[in-house]
Amino acid sequence: MRASVSPLEQTLHAARALVLADLVAGDVAEADVVSLVENSVVERRWWVEQWPEGAEYVAGLVAQDVQDALLERYGRWPLCPVCGSGDPHALDVEPELGADPHWVCHKAGVKVAAVGSLGSAAGGTTPS
Ligand SMILES: [Zn+2]
Repeated sequence: MRASVSPLEQTLHAARALVLADLVAGDVAEADVVSLVENSVVERRWWVEQWPEGAEYVAGLVAQDVQDALLERYGRWPLCPVCGSGDPHALDVEPELGADPHWVCHKAGVKVAAVGSLGSAAGGTTPS
């Protein structure tokens, strides 16, 4: 019976992997930071068990949880890779509660990358 992985576990696993990928991209995936992700996933497991329809929102929520936790312990994350000048500022997750979450820079008014894809955005914006 333990061989099958529930959709809930798959969702949580995917959310964890996406946020970890973004942390690695920002060079902040240290052990204590990874534990912040684990803590968020535990909380969101409870949350999505209460509200299964919210499963597709989990990645964006975990990203915001980790962002909030890092702000207290580490500082702003993820820093905006788009704006080359001015004060360093963090990206925001949009939608805050929705599917297909993205990192956006409100200063430049651009979508920077999907959550989980910051690594590919760090070298500059892709022409599209
Ligand atoms: Zn910016």
